[in-house]
Amino acid sequence: MARTYADVNDALGRQWYDYENFTIEWSSPERYEIIDRIGGGKYSEVFKGIDMVNSDICVIKVLKPVVDKKIKREVKILRNLTGGPNIIALLDVVQDQTGRYHSLVMEYIENVEWKAALILFTEVDIKYYIFQLLKALDFVHSRGVMHRDVKPGNVMIDHRCRKLRLIDWGLAEFYHPDIAYHIRVGSRYYKAPELLVGYKMYDYSLDIWSVGCMFASMLFKREHFFRGSDNDDQLLRILRVLGTNSFDSYLKMYDITFKSCHEALLQEYPKQPWTRFTAPDYRHRDLATTEALDLLEKMLRYDHRQRLTAREAQSHAYFNVVRLEGASHKGGL
Ligand code: ATP
Repeated sequence: MARTYADVNDALGRQWYDYENFTIEWSSPERYEIIDRIGGGKYSEVFKGIDMVNSDICVIKVLKPVVDKKIKREVKILRNLTGGPNIIALLDVVQDQTGRYHSLVMEYIENVEWKAALILFTEVDIKYYIFQLLKALDFVHSRGVMHRDVKPGNVMIDHRCRKLRLIDWGLAEFYHPDIAYHIRVGSRYYKAPELLVGYKMYDYSLDIWSVGCMFASMLFKREHFFRGSDNDDQLLRILRVLGTNSFDSYLKMYDITFKSCHEALLQEYPKQPWTRFTAPDYRHRDLATTEALDLLEKMLRYDHRQRLTAREAQSHAYFNVVRLEGASHKGGL
């Protein structure tokens, strides 16, 4: 069971989490015009658009035809969370005349590409954006939702305005204790170990693993820190860094039977010191401070119950500067 926010959905009530019995009022699409295609993935085509009523730029996410239930879940979660800190705002939901195509209209973020961000970001930027991401996640978790697909492609950063937004709620799900969830969620490089060993009773803490992976990328200037070619190889990459000792005790602790015919997965690996991964470029060497590595260590733990929660992570000494800055802004200094 989750260490925190385990019963929030119960407390918030059925109206909050029962997305299957939620009726969506669709608007008609005339109000919006498409300007450019800006992305897309397994589940959607995403366009930059314009709202003809107020001339605002927006994003139009045209959902590929999928089961009704999945659309309802994404809309319900976005509706519940819109207005929360660093959460992408849902502005409208539209349906074409045939009723076959559904689109989500959202606020547009002038995102800096992940590769460019990695080159650009200073120590202060890394602290600031990881803190903002944790702030978003603490809010999301406190409202009983697991995002389940945290990765650079779903974290939009407008560096000019220092604005971060968590997007893509297509895989997000409400958390209820003692439920066995699907493990085919997330994107490979950011999948937490529980997903790779088939442990279904996971909780909010799987999002923290993904933040840890993004944090490691930023500190060590590697596009993706654990870059597996398939799920087995993904786990192997993790084992080679975190070592097999604590992996074995983790499996035992949760009674997980993990079988593999992948020879390399059955071998033993020592834990690597994080300093081994420090970026060779002298300009980046001082990003991986003792405090940064301490925080990283506490996010990238096999045992999901031992990972810091988003709230605990925000209180880590690594973020002292960011918190002080926030406090002085509030105080009008
Ligand atoms: P995937 O299968 O890659 O997860 P998806 O079909 O679930 O994609 P999204 O992740 O919501 O769709 O959006 C796809 C891409 O569109 C994003 O990676 C991003 O580049 C762009 N995008 C989505 N929403 C926004 C936004 N609000 N502002 C700017 N760009 C956006």
